[in-house]
Amino acid sequence: MTWDGLLAPHRGVDLANETGTPIVAIDQGTVYYAGDDSTQNFAFINNFYGNMIILHLNQQWQGHSLFALYAHLSSIDVDIGQTVDSGEKIGAIGESGAAMAPHLHLEIRIDEPDNYLMVRNPELWYAPFPSTGVLAGRILDHHGRFIPGQLVVIRCPDGGRRSVETYWNQRTHPDDIISENFVFSDIPEMVCQVETEIQGVLHSQSVQIIAQEIAFVILRQSG
Ligand SMILES: [Zn+2]
Repeated sequence: MTWDGLLAPHRGVDLANETGTPIVAIDQGTVYYAGDDSTQNFAFINNFYGNMIILHLNQQWQGHSLFALYAHLSSIDVDIGQTVDSGEKIGAIGESGAAMAPHLHLEIRIDEPDNYLMVRNPELWYAPFPSTGVLAGRILDHHGRFIPGQLVVIRCPDGGRRSVETYWNQRTHPDDIISENFVFSDIPEMVCQVETEIQGVLHSQSVQIIAQEIAFVILRQSG
């Protein structure tokens, strides 16, 4: 998201909840960083993430090291170098740093934990809520190239109208295997219609959302 182009593309996912809500480790790992970012820069400015934790996950992926970054915390329960179990409480939701309301900002970084540009979409990396699944896809022009900043609408029988924008630039890296340019998570298990309008032409595809899995769809401009 960019708030209609006002902000640089967002590199993580925001999960709103009340201040003090426990935050748990998404997997086993070692604490790479715990503290604030007033003196150490993890983005493009200091005091961006506020109180933050970076976990170096034990699992590797395709030969890459994986890091989970948690930001805007109200409290931190872990120290640098400490090992944590999956599901272990590591801190609590807050609004420290550049936050306008209490929420968790979660990022997944590959190989370079200090590098703001080494992110992948975290919605591919945490387990969906029970009975819900994830939809990933590609919106392509007629040459087969990603269309940036494209509105994608997901219409489902629960009456929900969900929408997401495709990645705004090449700095939002697709997953190496899935090669998506949008992701929408926590959709209940059902058949939904995925729609996008490309130069006045509506493209549409139905897709079965499966609990705890990633469904995939491609919409490509014809001609
Ligand atoms: Zn955020």
